[in-house]
Amino acid sequence: MNFYAKSKDEIIHEFQIGTEGLDDIQVENMRIKYGSNELLERQRSTPFIVFLLQFNDFLIWILLVAAVLSGVLGKLESTLVIAVVVLINAILGTVQHLKAEESLSALKALSAPKSKVIRNGETVTIDSKDVVVGDLMLVESGDFIAADGRIIDSFSLRVDESSLTGESVSVEKDTLLIDETDLSPGDQHNMIFSGTHITYGRGRAIVTSVGRGTEIGKIATLIEEATEKETPLQKSLDEFGKKLAMIIIAIAVLVFALNLYRNNALVDAMMFSISLAVAAIPEALSSIITIVLAVGTRRMAQENAIVRKLHAVEGLGSVSVICSDKTGTLTQNKMSVKRIYTRSQLFKDNELDIQREHDLRLLLMAMLCNDSITNEHNEIGDPTEIALVKLGEIYGMDELEVRRQYKRISELPFDSNRKLMSTLHDIEGKRLMITKGAMDVILRRTTMIDDANQISPLSPEVQEEIERMNNLLSKEGLRVLAFGYKELINDKLDIDDESGLTFMGLIAMMDPPRPESKKAVSDCRKAGIRTVMITGDHIVTASAIAKEIGILDESTQAIEGYRLESMSDEALKEIVPTVSVYARVSPEHKIRIVRAWQELGFSVAMTGDGVNDAPALKQADIGVAMGITGTEVSKDAASMVLTDDNFATIAKAISNGRNIYDNIKNAVKFLLSGNTAGILAVLFASLFNLPAPFAPVHLLFINLVTDSLPAIAIGLEAPNAEVMNYKPRDIKEPLLTKPFAIEILIQGSLIASVTMVAFYIGMQTSITTATTMSFAVLCLSRLVHGFNCRTKEPLTFNILFSNRYIWAAFMIGASLLVAVLTWSPLNKLFEIATLTNEQYLMVLGLSIIPLICIQTVRRIRKRRYQ
Ligand code: ATP
Repeated sequence: MNFYAKSKDEIIHEFQIGTEGLDDIQVENMRIKYGSNELLERQRSTPFIVFLLQFNDFLIWILLVAAVLSGVLGKLESTLVIAVVVLINAILGTVQHLKAEESLSALKALSAPKSKVIRNGETVTIDSKDVVVGDLMLVESGDFIAADGRIIDSFSLRVDESSLTGESVSVEKDTLLIDETDLSPGDQHNMIFSGTHITYGRGRAIVTSVGRGTEIGKIATLIEEATEKETPLQKSLDEFGKKLAMIIIAIAVLVFALNLYRNNALVDAMMFSISLAVAAIPEALSSIITIVLAVGTRRMAQENAIVRKLHAVEGLGSVSVICSDKTGTLTQNKMSVKRIYTRSQLFKDNELDIQREHDLRLLLMAMLCNDSITNEHNEIGDPTEIALVKLGEIYGMDELEVRRQYKRISELPFDSNRKLMSTLHDIEGKRLMITKGAMDVILRRTTMIDDANQISPLSPEVQEEIERMNNLLSKEGLRVLAFGYKELINDKLDIDDESGLTFMGLIAMMDPPRPESKKAVSDCRKAGIRTVMITGDHIVTASAIAKEIGILDESTQAIEGYRLESMSDEALKEIVPTVSVYARVSPEHKIRIVRAWQELGFSVAMTGDGVNDAPALKQADIGVAMGITGTEVSKDAASMVLTDDNFATIAKAISNGRNIYDNIKNAVKFLLSGNTAGILAVLFASLFNLPAPFAPVHLLFINLVTDSLPAIAIGLEAPNAEVMNYKPRDIKEPLLTKPFAIEILIQGSLIASVTMVAFYIGMQTSITTATTMSFAVLCLSRLVHGFNCRTKEPLTFNILFSNRYIWAAFMIGASLLVAVLTWSPLNKLFEIATLTNEQYLMVLGLSIIPLICIQTVRRIRKRRYQ
């Protein structure tokens, strides 16, 4: 249907909606009639498929082959145990996968795109997927358009339709009927389309199609949600796992050959090699990382930081610079007018004389060049403008009444590049453009001054006086807005009209810093993270606030954005470390600042809220968007969204990110050191021509059953505030560093030694007793080793009991071990000999030796470095 060829009234008539929008019943009817606003969703895997996928793993194939071979070789018990363990592993894997998926999709729902519509006469923000045909949709700069619609109001509306048409220049939109047929979307200038976004202006449209009926839906009916790529950590561990598997297979083959060469029985030779493979491969690793990331991001969401891209969790740990907006992030975004400068005099907010025509006119301008609304319950709009409406209220003015009296004919909406906003009205027989904006920008466009008695050209002396006043007010940390006007004859405003203004006055407002900002900045400093303020505000205002919060001091400087323009990238790189405040910055400057820091080797978190901030947010290592004031476009580009817009939340998220990374690292240490112990024990036995110290099922049982629970428990270790006392992790540092590998090797050797001692003691009785003892010691000492891996610190009473998961994991693991050792049906399956009480005591004693050794060394080290 060609909605573009219908007039505005025809469309309104066709959908039978008034200014009130749809009511609830109409919404439901429309949904039934035209469907909901969803493209075909990616089919989620069913639990059964997830279960089957667990078997698609190289290791599992090896195990299945081993099970079959064991059966063929007459070891039916082994076949059964391998089958059961593989099954348990698949069930555990399925549950973990589904849980993680559930938690990640809950997270996704939190940052689902939103749209503004008018329903039941009220403006409401709804999930974009709930938009229906017929909805009266409100769009403004920075919004993603959720459905196709016919525009019925346009105020300088410009749309970036590149996602649909490939055209990168944004197109102007209006409401005029197009009397043509077969137009492509790119030519339909009275329509807006799903998947595109507003770059400038605002407007209203009636939704004409949703979901798969939209232009983008037609092209891509099978659009998939962007699937989450593996995070760098997952990738590097995956690669590590693959390499490890190759090495292990090679060693296993060698050991097999060695055994055959020594004329050992084929069955034994094979068991040896299979044991080795089973011992070595950390099967649980990748699912544990997924779980830890999922749980960690849920915790972060509860603390107001919604992670949109999983890699951000790891990236947060290496952030070394935070480039933060000022307004609303470091400050409260609650503005109130403190001073007014007009008629060459400075007034407090309540000292204007409303009987004077001049003062009244300034107040009228503040109400008219303004989109905000306040009432008893609500304050809607930009806080800068709300402050102006509240100023009017002091003098008994009602913003809606004023706006009804002097209707807006045209407007140029505020944008942070121009730092101006203009509206056109008929006031007392004259057509006036009212312009408000940053003081310096207005002054550059001013030629005259209205000082109540007369309108005269702006002399250098007066200009100097205004600048002095601006400086004075800014030094108090006030944001200074200037007001000017100009008489025009046209019906429509153009950017070029914003010049030759007549200066009316200054209105200065306070936006106090958030009380928590100062501490967060100092916490970050302690954690080796530099905070840099990047703001559109005036340099003096920004510096005053930055000093108060502790961002700017004698050793660093504040500069204005325009200076970057004449600076080469090299020059910028040189000064970047010395600058703590960038003022009057345009979004384009932000991307250069991020790049300069990155080239110096820093990892940058950058905040942003506007439509033009998207490139900088994407360039930053961690792009942070504002949940409350941020545009949809900025949220889409960011890897993290702050639901409270608060700087302190970034600091908290970094602390959480560091903790999650540490927890993952500790879980990896636990798993790999345990596996190393298994490998070393088997290798030792094979080199010294001893019988195999374990049956494959023993190692399977440990690796897949008893080891996975403590690993998860370590991954869920509570956040530790200590992490903010260290420097950020080097962005290039791999997880598996040399010292880390050495630590794993030492701990693995310790466990392997006690295991082989147990084996040796058991050999005095019988081979089965020996394997039983080495199995029991390996299993128990790895469970106990879980406590070592929780932190780098020596265990204290408090630390020991601060994580109940590790105790639960230990208890479950130990109970399972006791069951295998003492319950006769399991005895048989696991080829277990009955141990004497003495042997049990030895198992216990040997199993805690690694813990005692590691803890003693840590204590000695701590004492030495204190
Ligand atoms: P941030 O610190 O988040 O970058 P900011 O609010 O200081 O934010 P902008 O919103 O880009 O930065 O504002 C830049 C300047 O534009 C302000 O210092 C102010 O002088 C002016 N300004 C802000 N809001 C308006 C508005 N609604 N109308 C006109 N001028 C405005």
